[in-house]
Amino acid sequence: MRQFDRILAIAEAHENVFCSVGTHPHNADEELDVTCDELVRLAGHPKVVAIGEAGLDYFYDKAPREAQAQGFRTHIQAARQTGLPLVIHARNADDDMIAILEEETGKGAFPFILHCFSSGAALAQAGVKLGGYVSFSGILTFRNSQELRDIAETVPHDRLLVETDAPYLAPVPKRGKRNEPAFVAHTAHVLAETIGLSDEETADLTTENFFRLFRKVPRDAAR
Ligand SMILES: [Zn+2]
Repeated sequence: MRQFDRILAIAEAHENVFCSVGTHPHNADEELDVTCDELVRLAGHPKVVAIGEAGLDYFYDKAPREAQAQGFRTHIQAARQTGLPLVIHARNADDDMIAILEEETGKGAFPFILHCFSSGAALAQAGVKLGGYVSFSGILTFRNSQELRDIAETVPHDRLLVETDAPYLAPVPKRGKRNEPAFVAHTAHVLAETIGLSDEETADLTTENFFRLFRKVPRDAAR
């Protein structure tokens, strides 16, 4: 959030770059003063197409868990009000994440994406049941990620997405290199094998899913 001007400047400088607005859970305790109203106001900019990322990270625990939860709920409120997708970061926090998603969805639905999914099957199932999308990064291609591929196989096709999480998590065969957007094709290839579709069908599917969810991104600008 405190760097939002810089982020927006990058998005404004390039026709095919868009951004989200929010506070990462690592910094949740530093920005608890950011209100839902402020997020909603900033999200009114045409280049802002999502809220987040926000969520719970109990792996690094960089901010107190109560602060992460409080910030997360503020972002949920903003997603509900704007109708923009909430990009959710969840790590080692499956039970609390499921509980908050169920409780908050009960107050009113909001679009969301479980980004860089690396949690358990129960969270994937809960997310799908509550209307969410599940996005897989290069982790899906790692040799020791069979459990994750098994989860991907169970996600309904119209809720699947792929992402880079660049510069991190470059997929096989680029593993260990600095990740870049073009490498997402390798992740999509493994997803295709996993769900039994061709590469082209998977590309079409994930593209359709993206534009349905990120409804503010104009199709012609994203080519
Ligand atoms: Zn994240």
